[in-house]
Amino acid sequence: MPKNKDRGFMTHPRQEAPYRPVADRLRDYKAVEERLTDAELHQQAARCMDCGVPFCHAAQTGCSLSNVIPEFNELVFEERWREALEILHSTNCFPEFTGRVCPAPCESACVLGINQPPVNICKIELAVIEKGFERGYVEARVPKKRKPQAVAVLGSGPAGLAAADVLNRAGYPVTVFEEAARPGGILRYGIPDFKLEKWVLERRLNLMRAEGVVFECNVTAGTDVSYRFLKERFGAVVLTGGAREPRELQAPGRELNGIHLAMDFLTQSKQRISNEPFTGDPILAAGKRVVVIGGGDTGSDCIGTSWRQGALAVTQLEILPKPPPERAPETPWPLWPGKLRTSSSHQEGGERHWAVETTAFRGDDQGRVRAVRCVELDWLADEASGRYQPVPKQGTEFEIEAELVLLALGFTGPGPNRLVEQIGLACDARGFIQRDENYMASIPGLFVAGDMWRGASLVVHAISDGMRTAEHVMRYLEGHHDSIVTPVGKPGVA
Ligand SMILES: Cc1cc2nc3c(=O)[nH]c(=O)nc-3n(C[C@H](O)[C@H](O)[C@H](O)COP(=O)(O)OP(=O)(O)OC[C@H]3O[C@@H](n4cnc5c(N)ncnc54)[C@H](O)[C@@H]3O)c2cc1C
Ligand code: SF4
Repeated sequence: MPKNKDRGFMTHPRQEAPYRPVADRLRDYKAVEERLTDAELHQQAARCMDCGVPFCHAAQTGCSLSNVIPEFNELVFEERWREALEILHSTNCFPEFTGRVCPAPCESACVLGINQPPVNICKIELAVIEKGFERGYVEARVPKKRKPQAVAVLGSGPAGLAAADVLNRAGYPVTVFEEAARPGGILRYGIPDFKLEKWVLERRLNLMRAEGVVFECNVTAGTDVSYRFLKERFGAVVLTGGAREPRELQAPGRELNGIHLAMDFLTQSKQRISNEPFTGDPILAAGKRVVVIGGGDTGSDCIGTSWRQGALAVTQLEILPKPPPERAPETPWPLWPGKLRTSSSHQEGGERHWAVETTAFRGDDQGRVRAVRCVELDWLADEASGRYQPVPKQGTEFEIEAELVLLALGFTGPGPNRLVEQIGLACDARGFIQRDENYMASIPGLFVAGDMWRGASLVVHAISDGMRTAEHVMRYLEGHHDSIVTPVGKPGVA
């Protein structure tokens, strides 16, 4: 292979990772995406320009983990995989998750992206970690010496896992308490297998167990273990309960049977395919016409899952107007671009409608949903504020027949949490936990990280926040900071 990557970006076009054929992948829940070959990765790494100022790795513009991207691209080009992995792991505990599910804000900040398709950073990252596992470079590293103070992590999503990983490797004994039957948070019970197969999660959890992290599942903090119990046994506690309060749709007929929250549908689907017991009536798309309300990632996951369950038709409704196919002028480089996104689930079929409001649900005489009533919207600028407001278009009312409706309208807050109530933690108006510049909540020794603080966001942000929170926990345990509650502003959510 050529050893000189000068002007690689002029020689090689960007190459996407291939997807399995639709007819094939709809028969199972296995990953839809395949891997680039070593020769293709070599060319893709050669496209990196080694910019003087790499916007891709700056947390403000690109990767919130500050992955050292140009350096690992160079090492991949030189086939120095072990060193590439060392650099990648120095900033990212779990590249095998981000390499599969990250929407790659780094790529929208890549300098090459100003006038060409950006470097395929995400798939290079995935190749580095997978090569590391294949070649045995990723091994359990058990701390040689243990520290006296133990740490409890409440919640096992990417934020909790990242905090646990950093603290454990630094020698602190860590116990992760998780309410669900198995660890992983949304990585397990939200993101479907066709995007993230669960052996990937199990592989990392097994590594963490081998390194000494203890997982206690089916334990709800605040109910099964009190804060008093935790305080007596642990030197610090990290709260990472996620943002679980779903945004509701207030429309006549919402109470009809067959209208469900997206997370209930996705969680149950996951439990079904992994033979885990679940409570409540089965929610199944087989033989039904499905309407998904909400045009984001969760909605898209509902589409792919509905097809795999055997839906007859799937329609997705989005209240906002259809975005442009390319970067909108309001989001210039290096910002996260407002543009049309088509996921692997969209490629599998179905219709998408934009600028549509759901006005009501029609049911039958047995209380089952039969149709979704909608109206088209105009988004008009308000004269006083200049803000765009939705205005229903006269005479555009229509109905979509449906036997299953899935509400994927986002998340408005962390949701009820007994532990937070018990100890009266300071929260903002929406219930998100406040923290100071030391990432500490309003009680000394209690830290908060991930979506529970930031709001519903991305896996990359949760990992990065978990890792940084762990650093603050260590400083606290070593006696290096005071607790002054000054709520810290939240960064924008990509
Ligand atoms: C359906 C869906 C798909 C997504 N897809 C993507 C994607 O493709 N790419 C991407 O980057 N992001 C995606 N996201 C967003 C991403 O998954 C989240 O931002 C991320 O998981 C947040 O991590 P977290 O650790 O803060 O919380 P979570 O992952 O929500 O984990 C919180 C954990 O805390 C546990 N818990 C809560 N309360 C308690 C308690 N009292 N005691 C014990 N345990 C408790 C919960 O059971 C859960 O396991 C998706 C989100 C959803 C909902
Ligand atoms: S974690 Fe996401 S943003 Fe960071 S380098 Fe990987 S793909 Fe890019």
